[in-house]
Amino acid sequence: MGSDVMVVAEDVVKRYGRKDPLAVDRVSLRVRRGESLGIVGETGSGKSTMAKILSGLLPHDEGRAEFDGRAIYRRGRVDREIWKRVQMIFQDPYESLNPAMDVGTIVGEPLVFWRGFSPSQTRTRVAELLEGVGLAPSLAQAPPEELSGGQRQRVSIARAMAAEPELIICDEPVAALDVSVQAQILALMNELRERQGVAYVFISHDIGVVQLMCDRIAVMNAGKVVEELDAADLSVDRATDPYTRRLLASVPTLPHIDHPEQRPG
Ligand code: ADP
Ligand code: MG
Repeated sequence: MGSDVMVVAEDVVKRYGRKDPLAVDRVSLRVRRGESLGIVGETGSGKSTMAKILSGLLPHDEGRAEFDGRAIYRRGRVDREIWKRVQMIFQDPYESLNPAMDVGTIVGEPLVFWRGFSPSQTRTRVAELLEGVGLAPSLAQAPPEELSGGQRQRVSIARAMAAEPELIICDEPVAALDVSVQAQILALMNELRERQGVAYVFISHDIGVVQLMCDRIAVMNAGKVVEELDAADLSVDRATDPYTRRLLASVPTLPHIDHPEQRPG
């Protein structure tokens, strides 16, 4: 295994309840440094479960899940390094920001917590981070409830970037946003990736979105990765798996908004 491989999942299995079917069924994935790996599949295919396992939010049952050569979970405990080196951006910007904090505190928290910034260093860096995601630095004083969905997702991105992570796991980051705002956020995320050299695991049920954002794409169906393709090969002609071909054939030609994903729990 070359040292440019950052994330290794090998035959990862996850079952929620004893009688439930496998949410993740022997999934193997690799993410290299600076790469953007897409995971696409319908609701319930196991994408979010995989995201949580790779970000240390959920222990898996079987198999191997490692970040930079270290087990993400060992003996039921998460490797705390993960919290610093891997960040997550979630689907719902209305739930993912703490309503009790102002924007500056939300974005500045990783700076204080992980990087030991002083209050004045934090203020300066928060202003830079907000500008970096296209927000006015004066928004630092605002509570999240005053922001639009797109602005909130920019705040989530700024907070993720504050930690200077090596990997950002994005779980349907634009699915809750208007189509016009989606395009802006995706462009921002692509730009930041180029600027910072951060790797992405980019999850979406929308194959057009992953195609835009990713170098390589894993297609999930019923807990399994059924096919892995380079983004350039994501077409009905090139895909060999019947499920992937069906998914590709169903892509509408006009921009659309899918129903927000049904999320258990
Ligand atoms: P996706 O993100 O692709 O929609 P999920 O990973 O959320 O898929 O779900 C995979 C499967 O696991 C689904 O059958 C879902 O109902 C089930 N599942 C997800 N989260 C939970 C949970 N907290 N408790 C029980 N079952 C769950
Ligand atoms: Mg999901």
